[in-house]
Amino acid sequence: MNLLVQKFGGTSVGSIERIENAARRVIQAVEKGHRVVVVSSAMAGETDGLLSLAHQIGKRLPEREMDVLLSTGEQKAIALFSMMLRKLGYPAVSLCGWQVPIVTDDVHTKSRIVKIGVQRLKNLINDGYIPVVAGFQGVTETWDITTLGRGGSDTTAVALASALSADCEIYTDVPGVFTADPRIVPNAKKVPYISYEEMLELASLGAKVMQIRSVEFAAKYRVRIHVRSSFSEEEGTWIVPEDEVMEKVAVRGITADTKEARFTVVKVPDKPGIAAEIFKALGEAHIVVDMIVQNVSHDGYTDMSFTVNKTEADKAEEIIRKVAEKVGAEEVVRDDKVAKVSVVGLGMKSSYGTAAKMFEVLAKHGINMMAISTSEIKISCLIEEKFAELAVRELHEAFIENNEEIKVEGG
Ligand code: ASP
Ligand code: MG
Repeated sequence: MNLLVQKFGGTSVGSIERIENAARRVIQAVEKGHRVVVVSSAMAGETDGLLSLAHQIGKRLPEREMDVLLSTGEQKAIALFSMMLRKLGYPAVSLCGWQVPIVTDDVHTKSRIVKIGVQRLKNLINDGYIPVVAGFQGVTETWDITTLGRGGSDTTAVALASALSADCEIYTDVPGVFTADPRIVPNAKKVPYISYEEMLELASLGAKVMQIRSVEFAAKYRVRIHVRSSFSEEEGTWIVPEDEVMEKVAVRGITADTKEARFTVVKVPDKPGIAAEIFKALGEAHIVVDMIVQNVSHDGYTDMSFTVNKTEADKAEEIIRKVAEKVGAEEVVRDDKVAKVSVVGLGMKSSYGTAAKMFEVLAKHGINMMAISTSEIKISCLIEEKFAELAVRELHEAFIENNEEIKVEGG
């Protein structure tokens, strides 16, 4: 059976006119011989609207009731979507998460899927119906409504595609994934193929396109995803397993992330156990530490720098100050005006010169690096925030617009 899951984001179902446009995409696929399962988000702005209603009651609200509230957005959308398909002559049946069922754990507002029942979907498909499933919704084993976190309809779609062994089309309002943020780099190009790994490393680019958790899910179950615009016929970006990415370029994309803050613990005694003490305290508070740099020591003292997410920086600062005092460090310096610029690409595994070229480009523009970190397919440099856009533009020009210098072996 030639099965396809088609997911429509909020803007793609943002009005009755757009729902009709989306329904016509479904019909097009059906007419080409596909059996389609539709997944829909809430209409654009709906979830935010529900949130702000609730926030008129208070700031901290019972999460179980938030899920009951927020899930209504998708319920409304699937009813309208099914009515539209029926008007256009195609039998459709809307299903809420619990009617599938999509069973989740009970961590309200950010639940994880634990099981999907596919029998009802399969029966509907075999009987010639188009199931229209609410994204974002789940149900616990004990029949409470849950939601999968903001952007969670993507995860619904990928999970259904996995359970049904189908490909997954994600319809959105952008044409795909780009080599850089097109608002910063006007020459950014659409990427035809990208691996899960690259997509996850480019999270700050990709998060605007797809919920990160859905990409992790796709990677685990090898679901092929086609991200594309619902407003045009052009091919979008395929997110696929590494072995299906034809062109293993050294650099697939470039991002800047301004979500981290940097701490420096100045003049810490340079002896075993001190770093462990600092990071243990942060770990116990569930604070994720990203880039770590320890300077060469002088007279038995050293400086230690690292970054944490800005949302956790206040909590981290309190902890770091305490530990710093305890280990006899001179002072703690915090800097929120930093950016992490990254170049990401599968081909880096088998190419050389990427780091040198990156450092050269930054140096040429007088951009100082405060920390460096690498993975097999990524090099990140921490720089001053005010240089972030310049760095992305220049790196894009060097690596993507004029990339002939980087040699990829066997790529
Ligand atoms: N409606 C939910 C949200 O706005 C889920 C989704 O659209 O994926 O986050
Ligand atoms: Mg989305």
